[in-house]
Amino acid sequence: MKTHYGIYGGQYVAETLMAPLKELEAAYAEARRDRGFAEEFEGILRDYVGRESPITEAKRLSAHLGGARILLKREDLNHTGAHKVNNTVGQALLARRMGKRRLIAETGAGMHGVATATVAALFGMPCEIYMGAIDVERQAPNVQRMQMLGATVHAVSEGSATLKDAMNEALRDWVSNCDDTFYVIGTVAGPAPYPEIVRDFQSVIGREARRQCLERYGRLPDEAIACVGGGSNAIGLFAGFIDDPEVRLVGVEAGGRGLATGEHAASINVGRIGVLHGAKTMLLQTDDGNILDTYSVSAGLDYPGVGPEHCHLHDIGRAEYTVITDDEAVAAFDALCRFEGIIPALESSHALAEAMKRAPSLGGDGLILVNLSGRGDKDMENIMRYKASGPHGGNAGI
Ligand SMILES: *Cc1c(COP(=O)(O)O)cnc(C)c1O
Repeated sequence: MKTHYGIYGGQYVAETLMAPLKELEAAYAEARRDRGFAEEFEGILRDYVGRESPITEAKRLSAHLGGARILLKREDLNHTGAHKVNNTVGQALLARRMGKRRLIAETGAGMHGVATATVAALFGMPCEIYMGAIDVERQAPNVQRMQMLGATVHAVSEGSATLKDAMNEALRDWVSNCDDTFYVIGTVAGPAPYPEIVRDFQSVIGREARRQCLERYGRLPDEAIACVGGGSNAIGLFAGFIDDPEVRLVGVEAGGRGLATGEHAASINVGRIGVLHGAKTMLLQTDDGNILDTYSVSAGLDYPGVGPEHCHLHDIGRAEYTVITDDEAVAAFDALCRFEGIIPALESSHALAEAMKRAPSLGGDGLILVNLSGRGDKDMENIMRYKASGPHGGNAGI
């Protein structure tokens, strides 16, 4: 198994967590060699999640921009409305194989909590979700969804009462209950082997997209673009093209109100090396190493760290990482609604905004593949509040 990505990754955890991590490593190594495991995973993705997800060419938007053709990988069409379910299905299968009967998870905006509660119901497993107390208030509809699906939601009041504190609390639960409990991590972060496990389960995105591009367009895209919170939808997309050096890989971080304001979540762009949630990674932190509060209009990108593999891809120059502000993301959101009849998640709107910047200069023969990681139904209230809160400038010219 892979434990390090360059200098990043590893297992910076308490002694008590080493045994469950080793057990997970061994179980996953074995599952990966088992064709039956892969077949069951693929079967659930097909019959329950609704894969494969299509590629939609954004024709009117591309024509409006006057340049490259923009292709959307439609993870928003998955059951539960985002890419996260690919990973929770895989980890729930792994839990069952290991004889663990209880699932726990952390969640920020609530999307990973919903995806975990969903598979817990599907597999008939009890499920407990840790969520920052502030997020419980901000994301009430997702709390209701989790409860509807039979999960128990614990509001965490420690620290800043947001995602990083929820993750600490989930790790604490796991230490005390690892005999019968599986910790379902929602992104390519955390101690090894989680970043590799989550990457493998999400790599279905890139595998499908690569084949779909070749079938439909007879060639690979010039650029593959995805938003980066913890980095799981981006790594899933990149995995399909990592060995194709002609495909430029672009990760998009949340620029919030602008890097100069300090109100953002751009861990790779402005963070420094540190340790968070069991892995060495790029972090938003003070000079003394305290984790900084992050901000983005999209709750799903609001994480102070980032998956270790992204830090490495950045260092070796295989992928580049850019920043899109709230204003730019909301303008892209509006554009996709009006030009294509698709309401995207605010997270995904960051990737789309980057594609819209690049399309005009790439020329009419260019192909830009954007991972549309989720749908925007969950963001309605947020968008309305954002638009009501005064002039932010820019509306994609429509
Ligand atoms: C959670 C989420 C993200 C961010 O998570 P990654 O691990 O970076 O992919 C992006 N888009 C949507 C729709 C999400 O729900």
